[in-house]
Amino acid sequence: MPDLMSRRSLIELGVAGAATILPGQASAQTTHPRAAATGDGTAYPDREKIGFAVVGLGKLALGQIIPGFHDARGVRLAALVSGHPEKARQVATKYGVPSDAIYRYDDYDRIANDPRIQVVYIVLPNSMHAEYTIRALKAGKHVLCEKPMATSIADCEKMIAAAKTADRRLMIAYRCHYEPVSLEAMRRIRSGSLGRPRLVVTDMGRQADPTEPSDAWRLDMGMSGGGALADMGVYGVSASRYLLNEEPTEVRAWAHTDRSDPRFKSTEESIAWQFRFPSGAIANGSTSFSYAATMAFRVFCDQGKMIADPGALYGGNRLVVEDTAQKEFAPHLPNTAQFTREMDWMGDVVRGKAPMVSPGEEGLQDMRLMKAILDSVAKDGATVSTDWGYRRAFDPAVVVEMPSTA
Ligand code: NAD
Repeated sequence: MPDLMSRRSLIELGVAGAATILPGQASAQTTHPRAAATGDGTAYPDREKIGFAVVGLGKLALGQIIPGFHDARGVRLAALVSGHPEKARQVATKYGVPSDAIYRYDDYDRIANDPRIQVVYIVLPNSMHAEYTIRALKAGKHVLCEKPMATSIADCEKMIAAAKTADRRLMIAYRCHYEPVSLEAMRRIRSGSLGRPRLVVTDMGRQADPTEPSDAWRLDMGMSGGGALADMGVYGVSASRYLLNEEPTEVRAWAHTDRSDPRFKSTEESIAWQFRFPSGAIANGSTSFSYAATMAFRVFCDQGKMIADPGALYGGNRLVVEDTAQKEFAPHLPNTAQFTREMDWMGDVVRGKAPMVSPGEEGLQDMRLMKAILDSVAKDGATVSTDWGYRRAFDPAVVVEMPSTA
């Protein structure tokens, strides 16, 4: 198994998450007068970069997000919010954040008076997303919030309402909406070159390690909102929707959980689900905190197929396409710094130069679908309707440009 697919890599790298306009389906918006945004767009001078406060200095923030500002062309690290003053001081020194731009959780609301901060990036355990998002919005800041959006539908709705009230932008950090392998797969499906998509398969999981603090909360239902499903499965739920560019109308799901395994006291061990889509396409998804690490998706169309394995890591994703002539090829795709690209996208959204591709409504849709999966699990695989009429505002395949290969 290549190193990128090892369990350790996945734990350290964390994990991922896209849409053909199909007959009978309300089409996603296909035109938008967006400027060239992330990747190929303007490089702003430092004084014009959008200032971000990063909330939570855990594995993702320290390993990916904060280093990701270095190559950003339109955003910069302006402030830190942490419960560990010494850690925050060290990080601030390393990345040139002024000491008066370090906040604690209890004095976090003071960011309202700090004009250096325009966007707050929430990188906390899932159960804390809603509170810290709403406090940032009340402080007049825009918010980029990590996935999954929250731990309940009600919290997602409160976050969306708070953004409306504050007239601020709320984006969910679905990095795969901006990632080359996912974008290429979406574009090939939209082009029709492989025919109609019939089946999408997503397998997103790994072994959880309860001795790791960042896995301990993921295994707790209250803090994670759903174990492997909320942490890894969400990438598959999201991917099946953005690959097919339609929304499932029904789900059936099953779980296997060994309750004698101390890891699975409150969350499920492995879940498999099946979504039915209006076009007739089916998506099979699986997630687990007890199988070998995988972040893969496959798309089977009536005249060809695509395999992305790995398909949703931080780097090193690969897409293999097999066309009608059964000829296999791997399109050359750039290996993008995903967090830099996503943060620059948020900067362009705030500037009004890019469309909001992954708004709170996207996070809410995935939350509702994950709840439907768990509802079906609770009823031993009974069909649960998911036909509540959601449609995404923008098709990433149309409005997100492929980054330069240079
Ligand atoms: P982590 O456990 O490493 O970091 C969480 C941070 O929150 C730590 O700094 C911790 O000190 C702080 N914290 C504050 N109160 C806490 C509490 N009561 N309990 C535990 N920690 C507390 O987690 P992480 O891996 O950095 O994940 C953070 C968020 O980022 C999660 O929502 C996760 O789903 C998301 N994430 C996204 C990706 C991605 O690819 N987009 C990858 C990894 C994680």
